[in-house]
Amino acid sequence: MAKGNIGVTSDNIFPVIKKFLYSDHEIFLRELISNAVDATTKLKALSSVGEVKGELGDIRVRVSINKEKKTLTVSDHGIGMTAEEVDKFINQIAFSGAEEFLAQYKDKTEAIIGHFGLGFYSAFMVSKKVEIFSQSWKEDSKAVHWSCEGSPEYQMEDTIKADRGTDIVLHIDDEFPQYLEEATIEGLLKKYCKFLPVEIAFGKKKEWKDGKQVELDEENIINDINPAWTRKPADLKDEDYDKFYHELYPMQMDEPLFHIHLNVDYPFHLTGILYFPKIKSNLDVHRNKIQLYCNQVYVTDEVENIVPEYLTLLHGVIDSPDIPLNVSRSYLQSDNNVKKISGYITKKVADKLAELYKADKEGFSKKWDDIKMFIQFGMLTDEKFYEKACGFALVKNLDGKYFTLDEYKEQVKSAQTDKDGNLVLLYTNDPNAHYTYIERAKAKNYDVLLMDGELDVHCMSQAEQKSMEKAEDGAKGIRFVRIDSDTIENLIRKEDATKDNYSDEQKEGLRKAFENLLPTNEDKLRYFVTCEAAASDALPVFLTQNEFMRRMKEMSAHQQGMSFYGQMPDQYNLVVNTNHPLIQELVSKETSEEVQEEVEKKADKEGDAPTKETVIKTVYTLSGEDERLKQLIDIAFLASGQLKGEALAKFVNRSVELL
Ligand code: ADP
Repeated sequence: MAKGNIGVTSDNIFPVIKKFLYSDHEIFLRELISNAVDATTKLKALSSVGEVKGELGDIRVRVSINKEKKTLTVSDHGIGMTAEEVDKFINQIAFSGAEEFLAQYKDKTEAIIGHFGLGFYSAFMVSKKVEIFSQSWKEDSKAVHWSCEGSPEYQMEDTIKADRGTDIVLHIDDEFPQYLEEATIEGLLKKYCKFLPVEIAFGKKKEWKDGKQVELDEENIINDINPAWTRKPADLKDEDYDKFYHELYPMQMDEPLFHIHLNVDYPFHLTGILYFPKIKSNLDVHRNKIQLYCNQVYVTDEVENIVPEYLTLLHGVIDSPDIPLNVSRSYLQSDNNVKKISGYITKKVADKLAELYKADKEGFSKKWDDIKMFIQFGMLTDEKFYEKACGFALVKNLDGKYFTLDEYKEQVKSAQTDKDGNLVLLYTNDPNAHYTYIERAKAKNYDVLLMDGELDVHCMSQAEQKSMEKAEDGAKGIRFVRIDSDTIENLIRKEDATKDNYSDEQKEGLRKAFENLLPTNEDKLRYFVTCEAAASDALPVFLTQNEFMRRMKEMSAHQQGMSFYGQMPDQYNLVVNTNHPLIQELVSKETSEEVQEEVEKKADKEGDAPTKETVIKTVYTLSGEDERLKQLIDIAFLASGQLKGEALAKFVNRSVELL
C-alpha cells in the first residue's frame, strides 16, 4: 500500500473546499457524473478508431445509494485509470496559491471548481471519505483502489475489479443526510443530467399497482441521450420540437408558438433551440427559463449575460462549450465570445421571424398578439434587432387587420396626411371608452389602430423618433395621436382652423361659465376649458387629453428618471364646441336688466379688464343656465367614460327632471 500527500502547495485545501464551496455543494454530483460520462465518451472514441478492441458492452453510468453503509456510488464503464493515472490526475492537483485565490473568489463556487480542475474534489464537500476503484481499459493494467479521508493524506493500493471502469464511492458526511435520500438524488440527476449523452441509471423503474409503488426489472434511466438540439434540424418534425419542449418543461401545458434551432460552428460552437412560448400572464414570464448547457451538462438557467435581455423571456436551451462558465458575471459581459454569441442569437431570432412572416403572413399575424411583447421589447432595447424587426413588427387596426408600419402608412396616407404633410396615425387603447371619438374618426374615413399593449406607447414614440430622423432627408414624419386627445379636426388639420362668429369676450365668458361648474382642482386631476370650432354635429362639449402629457405620464410608469411626469396631475381639456347649435343658442341669449345690473356691480368690485362687460355678461347670462351647463359637462364626462359614482347619480336624476 502506498501513502502520500496530495500535491498541493497549501496543506489544507479540504477545510477550504468545505468552507468556501459550501453554498452550492449539490454540484458535486454533476461533477462526478460528468467525469463518468467523459470517461465513457473517451472510450467510445478510442473504440471508433480501433484502439479498443471488441464490443464495449454495457456502458451505462449508474448511481446508487447504500443507506446502511451511508454511501453514494457513481460507477462507469469508461476508460478507467491506472495507478499512475490516479497519481497524475488525482494526487497531483495543481493548486498553487490556493488560499489567496479562494479568498478572492469566496462566493464563486463554480469559478474555483472549474478553474482548478477541482471537479473530483468537490466530492469532499459532502463526504468524510472518498474511495476510487478503477480498472483501466489498457491491457495488462492492474486495478487500483484509492482512498482519502478529507485530509491531504491518501492511500493507494492494488485491488481486483471485475470490469473496466471506475467506481467513485462517497461516504456521506453526517451533516448531509439528504444525499442518501432517493428523492433528493433523483431530483439532482433530473436537474443536471437530463440530457447527458450517456445513459444514467438510478435504481429501477417504478409503477403504481393496486395503490402501491412496485419496482420493475427495468432500470430507471434519467436522461435523454439524444436531445432534440443535438440533432439535425432536417431530421426533426414540428412534433419533435413540441415533444422536446415538454421534456424540458414538464409542467408547461401550452404548446410553444414556434421554435428556432440554433447551430453554429464558427467562430464559436453553439447549438440550441429557442421557443416562443404562449404567455398568458406576466406571472408566467419567468417561470420557465432558458437553460444553459455545456456539452449536454446542465450549467444554469441564469442566462442574462449571454442572451440579450429581451430574449431571456424565451424558453429553450443553449449549449456551448465556448461560454466561459467559471468566471464572474461582470467578466462575462465583456467577454468577446459572449458578445458574439449574443449577437448571433439576436440575428438568428430576427432572421427566423422575418422568414416566418414572409412565408405565411396570415399565420404570423394570428400569433402576433402573443409574440409582440418579445419583439417590441427587443426593438426598444436593441438597435440591430429594431432594424430587422421593422419588416415583421405589426400594428393592428380596429377591424382586426394587421400591417407592418410601412404597409399601414401606405394604406392611410391619402386620408390622414395633414395640411403640413405630416402623417397622423390615430389610435385607441380602449375602444369602448373611446367609442364616440372613434365614430367621429370613422365618419371622416380615418382608420384607428388598437394600441393596448404594455409597450405600445414606447414603440409609438420610437417610431415617431425614427421617422423624424428620416424626415431630415426630405420625407415627412409620422405622429401617433390617441383618438381622444383633441377634436378630430384638430388631430388631423386639413385647412386653417374653422372660424366661429364669437367675440373674444363671448368666448371668455363661455369658458368661465363652464369653468365655474367643473369639479374643483383635485390633487390628481385638473381640468381646463377651451372653446373650439369643431364640427356642428360633434358633441357640444367634450373632454380631450393632451397626447404629450398623457404619454409622458404613461412612460414614466415604466422608466426611471421620469418621475417628474409621473407626479403631474392628469390634465383634461373640456372643449366647448362653439359650432354646436346648443352652444350658439346659449351665447345668443338676451341678458335681463337685473342680471346686467348685478354684473356691473360685481365688475366694479373686481376691477376687471376693459372687456369686462361682455365677458361678465355672458358669465351671468349663463349662470341662469347652470343646470343645462352641468348637464352638458356630464355628457362630456359620460362620453369619455369618466362619469362615475355620485356624479353619475346626479346626472341621471337631473336628466329625469329635465325631461
Ligand atoms: P476535470 O474533469 O476538470 O479534468 P477532475 O478533478 O474532475 O477534473 O478530474 C481530473 C482527472 O481525473 C480527469 O481529467 C480524468 O482524467 C480523471 N478522472 C476523473 N474521474 C474519472 C473517471 N470516472 N474515469 C476516468 N478518469 C477520471
